[in-house]
Amino acid sequence: MNSAGARVNLLDLDEVGLRAFFESIDEKPFRAQQVLKWIYHHAQTDVAAMTDLGIALREKLSLIAEIKLPEIIQEHRSSDGTVKWLIGFKGGNAVETVYIPEPKRGTLCVSSQVGCALNCSFCATGAQGFARNLTTAEIIGQVWLAAKALGHERNGQRRITNIVMMGMGEPLLNFDAVVPAMSLMRNDLGFGFAAKRVTLSTAGLVPGIYRLRETIDVALAVSLHSPVDDVRTELVPLNRKYPIAELMQACRDYVSEKHKRSVTFEYTLIDGVNDHPQHARKLVKLLRTVPSKLNLIPFNPFPGTQYRCSSQDRIAEFQEIVMRGGLIATVRKTRGEDINAACGQLVGKVKDRTKRSERIKLKMIETTP
Ligand code: SAH
Repeated sequence: MNSAGARVNLLDLDEVGLRAFFESIDEKPFRAQQVLKWIYHHAQTDVAAMTDLGIALREKLSLIAEIKLPEIIQEHRSSDGTVKWLIGFKGGNAVETVYIPEPKRGTLCVSSQVGCALNCSFCATGAQGFARNLTTAEIIGQVWLAAKALGHERNGQRRITNIVMMGMGEPLLNFDAVVPAMSLMRNDLGFGFAAKRVTLSTAGLVPGIYRLRETIDVALAVSLHSPVDDVRTELVPLNRKYPIAELMQACRDYVSEKHKRSVTFEYTLIDGVNDHPQHARKLVKLLRTVPSKLNLIPFNPFPGTQYRCSSQDRIAEFQEIVMRGGLIATVRKTRGEDINAACGQLVGKVKDRTKRSERIKLKMIETTP
């Protein structure tokens, strides 16, 4: 039981947390390893079936603990193979999780919050407002459910090869739940993904980037969208608090250790806003100072937006300028458009949303260590 007298959901605990849990109930910490393997290698959610635990321990666990997954409410399959799930939680909120198959890999895009408080002007999730943070169980539960729904392996090949925290929400504003979830993605007793295959994407929360670097080894993606402060502030209001120069310094520091390769910068191309050749040239100058890759994303429209996608020619010209400038730049293919599963189109079901007042947003950001 936890302090509120409810059963402990074992999906809320990474290996460190599970070891502490077993110690707290006078059991051997190594039980954590057995339980993790049952949950993540054998997809077992019934403690009674964990046969190497001994009957007494299984009975004890079934009284005080549970393995409680969120629920798949809807599944949509795109004609291009992309799958989108609406995943629901207690109390009626839901988020979206997307699987994007490509010839040599399969990427799972996971959500970290119901809605988002950052209010980026070109993002459908932002337009929803913010309801609440997801728990670790609700984050790792998305991976568990997707792996199960897809059939975790096919012909000895894993269907999911990469996980990106690029769904709904700002993961660094839900640090304490996101980190244990990513630790379960990385842990060999969990899903066992290599560091370069688990990516956290942030709108640019500078203190969170430093904290992440100290806490866990994962790849970093940063939603940049403009090399110019006033344009970036219009798109990502968080830029007012953490302007480009500070953000770039945080990125340089993130990759300053050898094992932390490079930062991926996301750049959504919006017609007439950030797609001018001049912007491309400024971007080259800016990104030359950081080991990086650039991911250009054609803007995906959603109901109510005033923005439009840049033309094919503009996108090609932009890519050419940055590549001539020496950057590694790819244009992200839009996937799952027919099921509204593309970047920035995820809306889920956001109940009890908080009023998006500046006051609340700033408070949240300021209380983030
Ligand atoms: N809050 C985090 C995680 C979301 S990742 C972050 O901002 O990085 C989702 C990515 O899709 C971000 O790079 C975001 O800027 C981008 N995006 C949002 N709305 C979009 C849209 N309408 N079209 C294309 N990309 C969009």
